[in-house]
Amino acid sequence: MHELGIAMRIAEITAEVAKREGVRKVTEVNVDIGVLAGIVPDLLESSFEMATKDTWLEKTRLNIHLIPATAMCLMCKKQFAPDGFLTVCPGCNAFECEIVRGKELSVKSLLSEDSRE
Ligand SMILES: [Zn+2]
Repeated sequence: MHELGIAMRIAEITAEVAKREGVRKVTEVNVDIGVLAGIVPDLLESSFEMATKDTWLEKTRLNIHLIPATAMCLMCKKQFAPDGFLTVCPGCNAFECEIVRGKELSVKSLLSEDSRE
């Protein structure tokens, strides 16, 4: 279960950003996760709870935004929704396709009590 490691990394990043921006209490963390990133959102959520338990981030909510997969054909540059990792271009049937979206994992933004005023 690598979600716990990822959750801990998210907590770290959150702490770093909060410190840099002088935020005292983070209420929500927004993360983008590609559907091909190999992460189970439910597991990540419960892992984040575990990772932040008894820390100052304990009450912070993790909002997961799933990013759909997009592939691009290297031959004709057509973009399309791939069927998993096995991709064939629907335009020219080329196998030379690249996943351009859907593998991301990034912390997008933090919501803090300070910023609600
Ligand atoms: Zn193509």
